[in-house]
Amino acid sequence: MQIEISGIEIDVQKKNIKNLHLAVVPPDGKVRVSAPTHLSDESIAMFVRTKLSWIKKQQEKFKKQSRQCKREYVSGETLYVFGQQYFLRVEYSYKGNSLVLEGNEAILTVRKESTSKQREAFVNEWYRSLLKDKIEIYLPKWEKITGLYCNSWQTKYMTTRWGTCNTNTRKIWLNLQLAKKPIECLEYVILHELAHLKVRNHSKDFIAIMDKYMPYWRETQKMLNDLILDYYSEEQGSN
Ligand SMILES: [Zn+2]
Repeated sequence: MQIEISGIEIDVQKKNIKNLHLAVVPPDGKVRVSAPTHLSDESIAMFVRTKLSWIKKQQEKFKKQSRQCKREYVSGETLYVFGQQYFLRVEYSYKGNSLVLEGNEAILTVRKESTSKQREAFVNEWYRSLLKDKIEIYLPKWEKITGLYCNSWQTKYMTTRWGTCNTNTRKIWLNLQLAKKPIECLEYVILHELAHLKVRNHSKDFIAIMDKYMPYWRETQKMLNDLILDYYSEEQGSN
């Protein structure tokens, strides 16, 4: 269902949930609301109206960022690996692709005529294997500390969230883009998703788990929220 408030299109989905969720989604700042099935359209509209200034602020942010974020995978661009900045140097070869970190350089070797899309696909898979190695260290670490264990996990390219989980199957998904962020961000998201295995929502009980095991989690969360998904490196690079 679509509603319009003050010229803003809002996509409303009614679901079997307890609370209302409002999100402004990149890249174009679409507004999405998930609402409990019993809530009237009027109440939903009223809620959205109280959030208008926040929505507009978020949309502005995305607009600004999308102007900055065309990545071509050519020499001189910046690449972030676990929070470290590297300058991309592109070299050409027909003997297979590679990406090697050397000093403050990331040397990407690809076929000369490869498209930016193909280069991106290669770099993303490179990030994935890097991230998987770290998850294999930090997931067992936090499982052991908390006594909360997942059944399986996977990495996934996501643009709206850092992690997600299915509490029934106890499966956790971690955003591929965490490979670009400081390692404490990965640890925070791992703990956050593990905590959801015990408490589904972000209630007091959930916060209590976070406070107990990671007293500084709010700072890390703030850092993650400031680093907008997928636009972080571009933003830093052009400033
Ligand atoms: Zn959560």
